[in-house]
Amino acid sequence: MSGPDYRAAEIAIVGGGIIGCAIAYELARKGHDVAVIERGAIGREASGASAGVIGPPSQTDLPPVRVELTARSLAAYPWLVAALQEETGLDVGYRQWGTLLVARDERELARLRALLSWQEELGFDSEWVDAAELRELEPTLPAGLRGALLANDGGSVHVYRLTRALAAAAARRGARLIEHTPALGLTTRGARVTGVRLPAGSLPAAQVVLAAGAWTAGLGQALGRPLPTIPVKGQMLAIGGVLHPPQHVIGGAGGYLVSRTDGTVAVAATEEYVGFDTRVTPAGLQTLVGLVAALGPGLLQGEVIATWAGLRPGSADGEAIVGPVPGYDNLWVASGHHRTGVQLAIGTAEVLVASLLAGAPDPLLAPLSPARFAAPPR
Ligand SMILES: Cc1cc2nc3c(=O)[nH]c(=O)nc-3n(C[C@H](O)[C@H](O)[C@H](O)COP(=O)(O)OP(=O)(O)OC[C@H]3O[C@@H](n4cnc5c(N)ncnc54)[C@H](O)[C@@H]3O)c2cc1C
Repeated sequence: MSGPDYRAAEIAIVGGGIIGCAIAYELARKGHDVAVIERGAIGREASGASAGVIGPPSQTDLPPVRVELTARSLAAYPWLVAALQEETGLDVGYRQWGTLLVARDERELARLRALLSWQEELGFDSEWVDAAELRELEPTLPAGLRGALLANDGGSVHVYRLTRALAAAAARRGARLIEHTPALGLTTRGARVTGVRLPAGSLPAAQVVLAAGAWTAGLGQALGRPLPTIPVKGQMLAIGGVLHPPQHVIGGAGGYLVSRTDGTVAVAATEEYVGFDTRVTPAGLQTLVGLVAALGPGLLQGEVIATWAGLRPGSADGEAIVGPVPGYDNLWVASGHHRTGVQLAIGTAEVLVASLLAGAPDPLLAPLSPARFAAPPR
């Protein structure tokens, strides 16, 4: 019987969520030799739990890098989904439904009007829908709304399937997927990382990318480098038996209703700072039921067919952590994408891979650099 395949890799990626797998696919597409090391099964953590909503940025105060990574991801989704379908035969459930962000009062109306102007300035395809037209467009909505921002670029994707498809397409191009194998740490020589320490030995690598989601902080700690990811729990539920599922992603009241291609509707999500706890709780379900009542009361008569929870990779300052790890010549990190990891994944992979191959970070990534967490010089 042959043992695990720990041949040297050009680039080893720790973490098989959407970020690690998008990076693996981008590298494999460009002809590079990649190994993805995943503690469990590919796509089973935050990415498998995700609502998969993608669309233009929904806050006017975001740094330009977030806007750019979002725009790149949105532009890439149509060709990427087609390429993955062709290469792997997997349907990743991508639909450009359009996203309706609803205003329930004057304050939300003013905020969404300002957001619309900003999105239009940035070139996103968004428009305003008056209160009178709203329920005609989307009968699921409650009465009394003040209007909505319709982002035609918005939609959703089945993130578990997308992550598996990215991994499968990378594997078809020669990437090794090493599942059920935790990275215990890295091997180093001076300022160079020489490989990844695994239970049955080390896998040598010329470059290493840490994409371990909410667990990235632990890997940084072992190296004495702060990569402060924080787990942010999100609970969700899915409703089946719905006669008229929403024809758009509906956002408001701090959450989303997301129709899926099988006719079920996902309700997203709580946001809880409770460590690595993934229990589904009555309090969480109460929040989700409140969202259904606020955004689509007709769905309250459907059937709850599933509940689950996952851990978003938050970060100490709320921004993603992407770039070279200070103190090492060949170590990179891509984590901390919090609530928008799916929205940012493809853009992140493009820019991170271009930087890694160039041997220097794209200046665009400066605000996301892990160097911002390094201790100030004394
Ligand atoms: C309920 C919920 C709803 C969400 N909704 C949306 C949404 O609508 N839109 C959006 O854009 N984003 C959404 N997100 C956020 C998005 O899903 C995440 O930002 C994204 O999935 C993070 O991907 P990741 O690859 O960084 O992390 P993960 O998917 O968690 O992947 C990290 C992987 O690293 C592995 N790993 C950890 N440590 C090790 C180790 N030592 N060795 C080997 N492997 C290791 C883990 O097992 C895991 O598989 C949501 C998240 C949740 C939980």
